[in-house]
Amino acid sequence: MPSCVMYNCKSRYGNPGLEYSLFSFPNENRKEREIWIRFVQADRRHEEWLPSAATKLCSKHFRREDITYGPTGRPALRKGAVPYPIYIVSSLLSRSPSQGCL
Ligand SMILES: [Zn+2]
Repeated sequence: MPSCVMYNCKSRYGNPGLEYSLFSFPNENRKEREIWIRFVQADRRHEEWLPSAATKLCSKHFRREDITYGPTGRPALRKGAVPYPIYIVSSLLSRSPSQGCL
């Protein structure tokens, strides 16, 4: 079962009544990949953490305006989208209240 990599996030694909989408990390040649990685590192307090090909972040950690819906209704991230709130990246010590955006 795929699930969100964020430590305190309970989003799991297919949860009844909850609409979450899971997004893969950007390719290695994209500069925002580093920000995604730092976002998770900050969350897990683990500075050596690195994503695998299967690692995913759920839509809860992105701004709504960064999520687009194609003709099929399938959600996708805008190019260059980074997780939100981004301030937890620069503040490794304060746990961010990442709830409340849905
Ligand atoms: Zn999540």
